[in-house]
Amino acid sequence: MVYEPISGKIMFDALRDKGCIILAANTRITEGILRGLFRAAKDTDSPLIVELAKSECNQHIGYTGYRPSEFAKVVYKCAADVGWDIWALHADHTTVKKGDPEEIKDTKELLAEQIDSGYTSFAIDASYLFNFEGKDEYEQLKPNIEVTAEIAHFIAERMGSHDFGLEVEVGEIGKKDSSGMVLTTPEEAVVFIKGLKEKGVEPQVIAVANGSVHGNIYDKDGNPIPQETIDIDRTKAIAAALRRAGYRVRIAQHGITGTPLPLIAEKFPKGDIIKGNVGTLWQNIAWEIFSIYEPVLYKRIYDWTLEKYGKPGKKREQVFGTDSKNAIKVFFKEIYAMGNSTRNALEAVAYAEALKFFRAFSSEGTASIVRNSIKKR
Ligand SMILES: [Zn+2]
Repeated sequence: MVYEPISGKIMFDALRDKGCIILAANTRITEGILRGLFRAAKDTDSPLIVELAKSECNQHIGYTGYRPSEFAKVVYKCAADVGWDIWALHADHTTVKKGDPEEIKDTKELLAEQIDSGYTSFAIDASYLFNFEGKDEYEQLKPNIEVTAEIAHFIAERMGSHDFGLEVEVGEIGKKDSSGMVLTTPEEAVVFIKGLKEKGVEPQVIAVANGSVHGNIYDKDGNPIPQETIDIDRTKAIAAALRRAGYRVRIAQHGITGTPLPLIAEKFPKGDIIKGNVGTLWQNIAWEIFSIYEPVLYKRIYDWTLEKYGKPGKKREQVFGTDSKNAIKVFFKEIYAMGNSTRNALEAVAYAEALKFFRAFSSEGTASIVRNSIKKR
């Protein structure tokens, strides 16, 4: 049995329109948590995507303290230890914000390291590149289309095939203006995918701005609140427009942390959404376990975050919830020197949490569909 990651394309193609969402977990802290995720995937026959964004992990070391070659080694080893085959290693938010030659060069350098380390799926996020002067959707999205296509062709060339997962992004997730959240329109999604297709790029998943926000969220007084702002009708309308236009691309839902699981189970349009990103939750679990099992280290991480990011009038809980991610790299050695009981507790909680997601995402039993599609190839 081989436990290397499979192509994200194979996974998305096999599970398109099967009424399920594939869990994509950003494991900023890998120890224990990754093992809990893989064990839950195996026990429920659910596919799993493991991912980190460029900000979290890059060739200059991201805020998780990982670079892609090291992260890939850890994930490969964990999959083999647990013995789980239906998983993909995904590069989340390969962000291009300016699109100048220097940034493009740096991005290709990152992708080269990811490809050489065995990543099998990639998200290109050039959603910031938006021409506000454009007179129609195409003109507005042209900079995003051009950069996304250039990067996608680079990946295909380096991989030596088109057999990899490809996610693209239109509309900046979580963006707000004076009238509230800025949402992607169905027309924008169609124009974007059409523009990419004309350049020979056909992604399997598209991330859109549909009302979610990344990370933990708080009200204006700094109290934690659930993530309930995802616009389900808009999400359905975008998926319907893409289907009508004949495209096979489906939606990647970002910013799921904090969304009540019954809402996901009952209301999320599964099949319209086929990839669900859950990131900050796994970090929240780690801090909660640390507060009990590694109280001295937890306090140091807490104090460091408050000292660096705290502001008068801002609730401590919100500061910690928002900015503690930056402490992972700083305390990397101490975090990974955790005791065995800490590791076991992380694994147990991540396992239980993953089980709930696989149920709410209706992905239990669907890894077999992917496995059968591989056998047929
Ligand atoms: Zn995201």
